[in-house]
Amino acid sequence: MLEPAYRADVVVVGAGVAGLAAAQRLISAGVPTAVLEAAPCVGGRMVTEKIDGFRLDRMGQLLSTSYPELRTTPGLQGLVLRPFAPGVLLHSGGRRLRAGAPASAGGARGALCAVRALASAPRPKPPSRTPRRPVPVPRGLAGAPLGTAVDHARLVAALTRLAGTPVERVLARPEAPAGQALADRGVPARTIEGFLRPLLAALLCDPDLTTSSRCADLALRTFASGRLCLPEGGAETLPELLARALPPGTVHTGVRVTSVSTNAVTTADHGELRCRAVLLATGARDAAGLLPGLRVPDFHPVTVVHHTTDEPPATGASLLLDADRGGPVAHTAVVSRVDPTRAPAGRALVSSTVLGPPPAGVDTAVRLHLSRLYGTPTARWETLAVHRTAEAVPAMPAPHDPRRPVRLLAGLYVCGDHRDTGTVQGALRSGHRASAAILADLGASGSMHRADPEPTMRRAA
Ligand SMILES: Cc1cc2nc3c(=O)[nH]c(=O)nc-3n(C[C@H](O)[C@H](O)[C@H](O)COP(=O)(O)OP(=O)(O)OC[C@H]3O[C@@H](n4cnc5c(N)ncnc54)[C@H](O)[C@@H]3O)c2cc1C
Repeated sequence: MLEPAYRADVVVVGAGVAGLAAAQRLISAGVPTAVLEAAPCVGGRMVTEKIDGFRLDRMGQLLSTSYPELRTTPGLQGLVLRPFAPGVLLHSGGRRLRAGAPASAGGARGALCAVRALASAPRPKPPSRTPRRPVPVPRGLAGAPLGTAVDHARLVAALTRLAGTPVERVLARPEAPAGQALADRGVPARTIEGFLRPLLAALLCDPDLTTSSRCADLALRTFASGRLCLPEGGAETLPELLARALPPGTVHTGVRVTSVSTNAVTTADHGELRCRAVLLATGARDAAGLLPGLRVPDFHPVTVVHHTTDEPPATGASLLLDADRGGPVAHTAVVSRVDPTRAPAGRALVSSTVLGPPPAGVDTAVRLHLSRLYGTPTARWETLAVHRTAEAVPAMPAPHDPRRPVRLLAGLYVCGDHRDTGTVQGALRSGHRASAAILADLGASGSMHRADPEPTMRRAA
């Protein structure tokens, strides 16, 4: 509950990871800050449902060990990232192949190449010693899924270059829809369809590859320079770590904000709170509801289906992508193999992601598809949850500015994944940028500099 006399210099609206990360940085800089959250708990889209000892995420599972903000955000030092097996498993032409695994022991940077057939055998080979040099396309694999040995070598070289390219240079490249840009660059169709499309669809939650090619390149760069991973304990671990590191009494849940200005917020049930600056850290639609004029992007819908079985498929801790597009599942994994804390002993948790509007009877369609992908019957698998999120990830069509302004006016700021890239990394970085803008304004003279009104607001929206 908020006391009538409660005061904070900065009020953050929304306790998703963007708002919590911003609050962390503001409080670390000595600025009294309050976070108001409408829901009964923190986390926003990063929630984890607990059912019978299972920990079921609403979000589609994919973080990267190379997300810089996971390493640098104060409060996340205790975060444990559980990596998937290197690279990805591709289901292509009815076979399973490992692709994108690092080819040198010298680190992940610039080393995507191995393509190994795991296909006809239902049980994957145990991981062999990491080869020192790029592995050539095995006999019989030419033509699928990465094309000829030359196509393969070109892909390896391109990903290796991308991993070493500074972000600013990636963001300066010409921009087009990702699918079109790949074709314009002369990437062979089978490399796109066999590897890049399923990978990018999973990373961007965009099966049609309409996303800006710059954002797609950033996603490939992230993939090439790190490992896909899950936060140990579920997605909620991130916001909970951030919230726990804040001084007690900073976060107020169950408080819905109904209007904002540069020096006050009004709440549904707790009156008005005066302050020196307001940071709007809600999702895009709620932000536009509070500040009409802010842009509302399109969204990619995502459905995550969680199953359990006591006979898990033998794909180990791999992320399995369907290059054949033979059903609704874009990617799936035996998540409890990656992070054993997510399932009780003796049970396996299989989490599968459907991109776009889900088909009717999604659970049945997913089960059928999974039986082909894993090569094992799924009829006896138990469905734990089907999480549909219509506005899961903001779309990023070209042209997309992944550094959208976070300062609307002196005293009024906005952050969230819709101001950056539609990822956890983007949400955290937007909170970082917003807190820096607030500190710069507050720090200049001890009082807010208010010399630049409407034009900034219009540019920023
Ligand atoms: C299904 C799904 C799959 C995803 N897959 C991935 C993935 O694989 N990889 C990846 O990196 N990212 C993924 N994401 C995206 C990632 O979850 C988001 O980018 C990130 O969580 C956004 O954080 P945020 O803080 O910007 O917003 P949110 O998490 O939306 O937080 C906003 C908060 O504001 C609160 N709020 C709203 N209105 C008010 C109000 N009036 N008053 C007070 N509080 C308010 C909300 O309750 C919420 O808690 C996925 C998301 C979903 C849903």
